[in-house]
Amino acid sequence: MNTYRIGIDLGGTKIESVLLSPDRAELYRERVPTPAGNDYDLIVRAVYDRVRAMAEKIPGSGDFSIGIGIPGAVQKETGLVHNANTTCLIGKPFQADLETLCRKEIAMENDANCFTLTEALEGSGKGYGMVFGVIMGTGCGGGICINGKIWGGANGIAGEWGHFSVDPGGRPCYCGNRGCVETKISGSGMEAAFFEQFGRHLKTKDIVAGFRQGDEPCKMVFLQFLEDFGRALGGLISVLDPDVVVLGGGLSQIDELYTLGVRQVQKYAFHKNIQTPILKNKLGDSSGVIGAALLNRS
Ligand SMILES: [Zn+2]
Repeated sequence: MNTYRIGIDLGGTKIESVLLSPDRAELYRERVPTPAGNDYDLIVRAVYDRVRAMAEKIPGSGDFSIGIGIPGAVQKETGLVHNANTTCLIGKPFQADLETLCRKEIAMENDANCFTLTEALEGSGKGYGMVFGVIMGTGCGGGICINGKIWGGANGIAGEWGHFSVDPGGRPCYCGNRGCVETKISGSGMEAAFFEQFGRHLKTKDIVAGFRQGDEPCKMVFLQFLEDFGRALGGLISVLDPDVVVLGGGLSQIDELYTLGVRQVQKYAFHKNIQTPILKNKLGDSSGVIGAALLNRS
């Protein structure tokens, strides 16, 4: 194989791009803002521009592959995007439109799957058979890798634990249901819970800091968050029984998840002595874009 790899991670606020050499060295990386306005045509153009920018960095006329991570899933039968929280992508042939512009086949995957692939191949999940990757940030996503390969599922939604509806009386979720896991164990969920109970807006990092200082309202909200985390992840482990769970996204930086949070997971898992490692990611923010580039490895 003498192929360079271009990886693009399309996010709600930024587009990250990377160029890998045939021997996996990172040659170039950049971040640009995602076009504002939730406009499909602008996003297609912006991603195409990043592909061209990366291709121009390739020495000589080296061959290259293109992999793109998106905040949604591609329906196998139709090629249309669904379940995207960048909602202008929904129902659009994003992959086909980009392939037309690039005049080349591209690989496209859910961004949480890209994260999980990188962590399974090169990060905290390396050496484990089944890796469940969790993204906890503004929202809550997940992906599954088995023996170094993404398990997408029959509908392309494998690992989407963020949309278990666990509370019929809970807050509405953008997916159309109420009380999804994402409405509880995400930054936005924690902040909404604080506002509902105490009528004040507090950022996630301030709630966690308040908890550490013994502030009662912060303790109530954060301990509930940890219990919700344990209930959701404990249930998921009971179904999937992965060899390891790797946490990513902004909330994965909260140390208490790996102590108090893990104890809650153990409380709610079906097996009372589960030893499933729950680990912080190794590659941080880069996992998504590297995983997109690695979609084409052979
Ligand atoms: Zn939902």
